[in-house]
Amino acid sequence: MDFELTETAKEVQDAARAFAQRLKPQAAEWEEAEAIPADFLREGGRLGFFGLMVAQEYGGMGLDALTYAIAMEELARANASYQGCLSVHNSLVCEAVQRFGTPDQKNRYLFKLAAGEVIGAYSLSEPGAGSDAGSIAASAVPDGDGFVLNGEKCWVTNGGIAGLFVVFVSTSPASASRGISCFLLEKETSGFTVGRKEKKMGLRASDTRALEFKGCRVPRSSLLGSLNGGFKIAMSLLDGGRIGIGAQAVGIAQAALDGAVSYAKVRKQFGRRISEFQLTQAKLADMAMGVDAARLLVRRAAALLSRGKRCTKEASMAKLFATVTANRVAYDAVQIHGGNGYIREFPVERYFRDARAGEIYEGTSEIQRLIIAREVLRERAS
Ligand SMILES: Cc1cc2nc3c(=O)[nH]c(=O)nc-3n(C[C@H](O)[C@H](O)[C@H](O)COP(=O)(O)OP(=O)(O)OC[C@H]3O[C@@H](n4cnc5c(N)ncnc54)[C@H](O)[C@@H]3O)c2cc1C
Repeated sequence: MDFELTETAKEVQDAARAFAQRLKPQAAEWEEAEAIPADFLREGGRLGFFGLMVAQEYGGMGLDALTYAIAMEELARANASYQGCLSVHNSLVCEAVQRFGTPDQKNRYLFKLAAGEVIGAYSLSEPGAGSDAGSIAASAVPDGDGFVLNGEKCWVTNGGIAGLFVVFVSTSPASASRGISCFLLEKETSGFTVGRKEKKMGLRASDTRALEFKGCRVPRSSLLGSLNGGFKIAMSLLDGGRIGIGAQAVGIAQAALDGAVSYAKVRKQFGRRISEFQLTQAKLADMAMGVDAARLLVRRAAALLSRGKRCTKEASMAKLFATVTANRVAYDAVQIHGGNGYIREFPVERYFRDARAGEIYEGTSEIQRLIIAREVLRERAS
């Protein structure tokens, strides 16, 4: 593995850092408002952040997964809610259309997605089907030259701001996960309602919604991939998605470490800066080591994906390690701030809350361990 970034990766990292400088001062205000202002979404679109991996022929930047992960880390370091919106949009929606779409579907959606004119959402989870995603109950039944969808979805990131939804529903309930299909659903479709906005612990500017389908009729052309082939699409997209979440966790952890270092250098107790106490130094050392190790795991998984290699185990390892690390680093950053870590004046309090979601979405930490163990056992099968 080459640790030196390519010229393109360095340029994209610089561009992401420059945009991050605009996003960072907004984070506290947006979280109070529980929304990202539309002009910042448009600006991200103009700068290319909504089409990072979309091929240039469809108006995107055509970057590989490693360069994408580098950009995601920089943006999450500044504003994790904004990066969360981009992560779902790029790795779960643009990639869904790019990898599995027909030429017509690509022409219809990719240009608008890449420009940020249409924002994407990915809807797998349901009230009764989270970790056990194969047990979803929302259904689609054939009707004339299309399908009719019924059922409920929940926890949909970008739900209130999306124009295009990648939706997974059961088309053959008796076949469980082998009877799931994927549809591209436009916001205006009759019988489709976007529901309440969740009040979340962290990532509060990210818009998370429930969805409802009631006699929602879609044409056959909205089927993505093959009939009953949706679960494979959902799972294969999650390899890339987990790299995005791993990069988010590295960005949050780096921000928490930055905050802790700055604070420790100025705060004085017992007549000395708290950075002079070895117990503080031990914390900072462990935090820095964790951030670096997490970054390396994320970049390894992203480098494999960039080369078109299977990276299910590596993406799960990266996501699990990076999100656990982000939680621990943010916890220690709050501790180093003492009482000031517990109030909103200092951003470490937000990092602590933002980091928590990483161990839950796109597969909980428990599910990542099951995936890693499954892959390890399979590799060693005799
Ligand atoms: C902020 C946020 C944004 C989200 N965005 C999206 C989105 O855009 N699209 C989408 O489809 N979903 C989204 N989700 C949903 C997310 O993917 C689910 O919350 C997650 O998969 C867990 O499902 P659950 O909440 O139903 O928990 P459950 O599956 O009920 O799990 C509860 C607990 O049981 C454990 N558990 C379950 N099964 C096992 C097992 N076999 N072995 C050991 N432990 C187990 C879990 O690890 C967890 O600790 C989002 C969630 C959050 C919090």
